Amino acid sequence: MLSRHSSACPLDCPDACSLEVRVEEGKVTRIDAGTANPLTEGFICAKVRRFTEHLYSPERLLYPAARSGRKGSGQFQRISWEEALERVTARLKEAAQQWGSESILPFSYGGSNGLISQDTTDARLFFRLGASRLARTVCSVPTRLAAEGLYGRMPTTAVEDYLHSQLIVLWGVNPSATGIHLVPIVQQALQRGAKLIVVDPRTTPLAARAQLHLPLRPGTDLPLALGIIRWLFEHGKADLAFLNEHATGVRQLRERSEPWELPKVAAETGLSVEDLESFAQSYAEAHPAVIRCGWGQERNRNGGSATAAILALPAVAGKFGVRGGGYTLSNSRAFGLNPLSAACADPPATREINMNLLGETLLGETQPPVKVLFVYNANPASTLPCQEKVLSGLEREDLFTVVFDQVMTDTAAYADLLLPATTFLERRELSRGYGAMVLQDAAAVIPPAGEARSNHEVFAELCRRLGLSREGEPETDEAIAQAILGAHPQGNAYRKALLERGVAHPPTGYAPIAFVDFLPWTADQKIHLFAEELHREARHGLYFYEADPASPRYPLSLISPATGNTVSSMLGQTWKREASLEMHPDDARARGIVDGDAVLAFNELGEVEVKARLSTSVRPGVVVIPKGLWRRHTLNGATSNALSPDTLSDIGGGACFNDARIEVRRAGTAPAS
Ligand code: SF4
Repeated sequence: MLSRHSSACPLDCPDACSLEVRVEEGKVTRIDAGTANPLTEGFICAKVRRFTEHLYSPERLLYPAARSGRKGSGQFQRISWEEALERVTARLKEAAQQWGSESILPFSYGGSNGLISQDTTDARLFFRLGASRLARTVCSVPTRLAAEGLYGRMPTTAVEDYLHSQLIVLWGVNPSATGIHLVPIVQQALQRGAKLIVVDPRTTPLAARAQLHLPLRPGTDLPLALGIIRWLFEHGKADLAFLNEHATGVRQLRERSEPWELPKVAAETGLSVEDLESFAQSYAEAHPAVIRCGWGQERNRNGGSATAAILALPAVAGKFGVRGGGYTLSNSRAFGLNPLSAACADPPATREINMNLLGETLLGETQPPVKVLFVYNANPASTLPCQEKVLSGLEREDLFTVVFDQVMTDTAAYADLLLPATTFLERRELSRGYGAMVLQDAAAVIPPAGEARSNHEVFAELCRRLGLSREGEPETDEAIAQAILGAHPQGNAYRKALLERGVAHPPTGYAPIAFVDFLPWTADQKIHLFAEELHREARHGLYFYEADPASPRYPLSLISPATGNTVSSMLGQTWKREASLEMHPDDARARGIVDGDAVLAFNELGEVEVKARLSTSVRPGVVVIPKGLWRRHTLNGATSNALSPDTLSDIGGGACFNDARIEVRRAGTAPAS
């Protein structure tokens, strides 16, 4: 029997596609674009078109299982759910009694961005247990804090409005891999005469089409943005009337930009003064002009200040107040919806552990030591900095690790206990886009594979077994959705729109214009160009530049951008090819490396063995090993994260993947003395 179902993609991607799912004889046979989300009508990415490879993967977890081999071996024996839940309950109780509740660490991230699958009964369980809290900092925190510091949680420019832009700046983002629906919009805008500028160390597909590509050195976005700000003030191109009316902190920002004359910016970024002038001139003159700010600029020591300076540009140059102007970043907060965790309890004042420091936490002197690690919606063995430390931590025999996931990930191989989780097609999910301003409520389209269960169900059951449930609290998907929507003044309107159209938009509408439809969502409705909270938090103060950590021993900058093959590390098991290290032919020649050589990328943290691919799409001095790899994708089982330091960004404790400085040599050759 054949049936067609509407669904929505809740994976960690800005586009939030509506989906149409074809089911035959109880199995998904095809996934195409649905019609509810106006941005994504027409096409979806190859990853989700091929999602059946994930759903029916031989590596899918179908039953609970207990470890039967050494940690990391991936050997397990099937057990019943009853036994699994009993074991988890007993371990949680034992850890709390013997070591204190903070010896329990829940570990989760954005395996799904749904409001039903995360921060619901899971938060209730861990809050009430008094477990350690996790700072989810591996991505987007410096950027989010910078945006909120300057503008509050206001909505940002809808990408469809780029059709009105005269200039589009893509900064630290590669929509061809992440956020593919922007690509045809940019192409259409170019056909209409818009200009495109791309700021990225690599020649991405859109950088190749740009009128101006600025392949800056990784981690130098801050001097670049400050240099342009300085130029705008110096050349009388700052919109002083707008700043006077709508911004605070103008003087402090200008002072911080003062040292960054273009020749100095050029020396730091590796760009030419001519290109910098061209950027500044183009941005000053174009109207409307929009900046699509991504996340590439945050993954380094200066990430928070860099994002703040980039987001200050449209204010300084007066680019708001018109359709197709301003900037685009995350829009998920525009709905004003809070996760259920906001209602179920205040987070206890237990210790907070930065997820980027998991390896250090598991191996170090942290007191009490982490004794139970409960991983869900995440794959820390592949995705965190200092991979060797993380793996050594997961090998600890006195650590009890639960992994609740859909497939046998690199982390699952280290579990003591495996719990099989449903995918978004096997459960209901309420999800907000963080690019497209859409809220969607998608029902399950097929029954769970094997004995897979949903997050909210399993955590509610654990609450019951531990005596942490309270009468009448929402536990089912329906009750959780009602509680989340019901807590918002627009909840009824959201519900009505979801029922009638399958999609709801924020109260501001689908594509609102800042400074026309609303003012900044800060307390005084002003832009805070020198936000005090950011200045206080920033390691050396807001807009302070920390220099490149390269050394003569490790002169190459390693970056690990996303590809179109995975969503973060999710779907990695469907990526069959070996990964490669991309490097500029000049760097290769200097090291006697030719295309296809097995090479060793190394620094004091570890080494990664991969094949070299020579390419002029990376600038000299920069090498690329992609994000999202699993251990199987390299020749020695280490990913680029084996080389990433666990240092933190200036604001928000973000990961500094792009601060990895390395050397590369042909595999099998001796290190230079
Ligand atoms: S990952 Fe992104 S592009 Fe792909 S289906 Fe999901 S929302 Fe759409």
